[in-house]
Amino acid sequence: MILRNELKEVKTAAISGHVRPDGDCVGACMALYHYIRKNFPDIEVDLYLEEVPKSYSLIEGIEKIKHSASEPKEYDVFFILDCGDKDRLGFSSVYFETAKRTVCIDHHISNGGDFTDSSQVEPKSAATCEVLFYLMKLEEMNLSIATALYMGLIHDTGVFKHSNTTERTLMAAAKLVGMGVEFTKIINTSFYEKSYVQNQILGRALLESVVFYHGSCIFSALKLKDLDFYGVGPSDLGGIVDQLIVTEGIRCAIFLYEIGQQKFKVSMRSKEGIDVSQVAMHFGGGGHIRAAGCEMMGSVYDVINNLSARIALQIGEEPDSAEVMAEEEPCTAE
Ligand code: AMP
Ligand code: MN
Ligand code: MN
Repeated sequence: MILRNELKEVKTAAISGHVRPDGDCVGACMALYHYIRKNFPDIEVDLYLEEVPKSYSLIEGIEKIKHSASEPKEYDVFFILDCGDKDRLGFSSVYFETAKRTVCIDHHISNGGDFTDSSQVEPKSAATCEVLFYLMKLEEMNLSIATALYMGLIHDTGVFKHSNTTERTLMAAAKLVGMGVEFTKIINTSFYEKSYVQNQILGRALLESVVFYHGSCIFSALKLKDLDFYGVGPSDLGGIVDQLIVTEGIRCAIFLYEIGQQKFKVSMRSKEGIDVSQVAMHFGGGGHIRAAGCEMMGSVYDVINNLSARIALQIGEEPDSAEVMAEEEPCTAE
């Protein structure tokens, strides 16, 4: 894909990403927004995302993001970023449906790249921000673009420690550092710093975690009443599953939180030998080999029973050996 060509003769453009946007999604959307503003100033560009965690506020222009599809509009082009499925767009899907052209830029292995007019899907790229970096020329970038791209790289690689990090990822990061991004500040404020309640809910999730399959898997679940008690929302829960997976001996971590009555958002992380994107895809979600997610209906036990049965297929465990198999009711994938 030649990014410039996607913007030729375009008067109006919309940008959006997946629901409950993470650092890569916000970074990619903001980077493309600033790219268009800098290189195609005549294009009218709107950016749509759900509520963005405060920790990303180092990216310039975050307040320009629109959080609802309030007016009917038909865009010349609609960019869908870090999202392999139009059902994960959320409220902005109305503009996807009516746009004259659609373009997808992504890195999810579960993305077939066949639901937009044009696409650049690179499953080997650590982040959509890496894909985007290589679609832009250095001279077309500025510090706002570089900061947004750096944000995406650190979030999807766990600050360059996950196995998705490659030489190409680090080359991109090196160039961004060369452009002057404030990496210490970005990493600390958007990645490590937590509010008091965020630490409390992390502690609660760790305290109530359950280990199964002979100490190789772990899960923790938070109900709506827990979230209400601490006064936290989805954007306060980032990093919990990443703390679960660093438990000694654990090869697969599952974290769920309730997003509606008996409806759960599932996050999974794995180590060698377990492909959680397979598990997520089985339940209508997606992601990557080492990090994937889906939404599922049922009780916590239903959800864990169903997920652990799929994991068992990969690690040769008998599904009924998990201590969590308390109820047998099947749950349905969302
Ligand atoms: P998370 O656990 O939400 O951090 O997500 C891990 C990875 O899986 C990210 O790349 C997500 O974009 C992807 N992912 C999470 N939930 C879903 C879903 N419901 N459908 C497709 N991909 C997902
Ligand atoms: Mn994402
Ligand atoms: Mn991503």
